[in-house]
Amino acid sequence: MSKYDRYKEEVLRCSQRLFAEGFNVGTSGNVSVLVEGEEAVAVTPSGRPYLDLSPADICVARFDLGVIEGQWRPSVETGMHVAVYRGRPDAGAVIHTHQRYASVLAIIGKPLPPLFDDQALNLGPGARLVPYAPSGTPDLAANVAAKLADRANAYLLQSHGALVLGADLAEAYRNATLLEHCCRVYCDALATGSEVTPLPEQLAAALGFALRAKQDAAAARRSGG
Ligand SMILES: [Zn+2]
Repeated sequence: MSKYDRYKEEVLRCSQRLFAEGFNVGTSGNVSVLVEGEEAVAVTPSGRPYLDLSPADICVARFDLGVIEGQWRPSVETGMHVAVYRGRPDAGAVIHTHQRYASVLAIIGKPLPPLFDDQALNLGPGARLVPYAPSGTPDLAANVAAKLADRANAYLLQSHGALVLGADLAEAYRNATLLEHCCRVYCDALATGSEVTPLPEQLAAALGFALRAKQDAAAARRSGG
């Protein structure tokens, strides 16, 4: 038993669910959750098949990427996850996927505009494109860090996939599914050749304001404020 067990179980459950639901193929994608009160995360290991994992296979790594627990190497994208936790004090969990429709937009270089009210309220002002850098590099982590100030909960990694965050893993999972739904509808709408109508700007701004208030409350809870 270790104090990290509950985090490992949570990461395992979420990563296997995302795999079963087709958000990732093979060993792609990665899931992490912040350890309360520490600069550390529980994160999926690199290159291990999801369905073969047990809680003991989930890694615990410090923000400096040093391993605290685990027999495997932490995901190569752990640095990108840490960049999110450092840049966004409201983030309690981070998910990176190669989910299909977000990936379609990521390879045609089209950000997701704000289309629906539940999207604006949960994901923020659309999902912007993070410029390409090779997987697992500090450059990719830096490109992500440079986008976080817009307070969105979802981003598209150009020519790669999706990155979502949430106050906890349940919220991050919901955000990944909501992002996929919105990207799918947007791709279908683009395919009709008709003009796509984004949310009225005022409404998107008001919903974005409500999201930021929710994020501020999550950050305050985390810092004990
Ligand atoms: Zn990836």
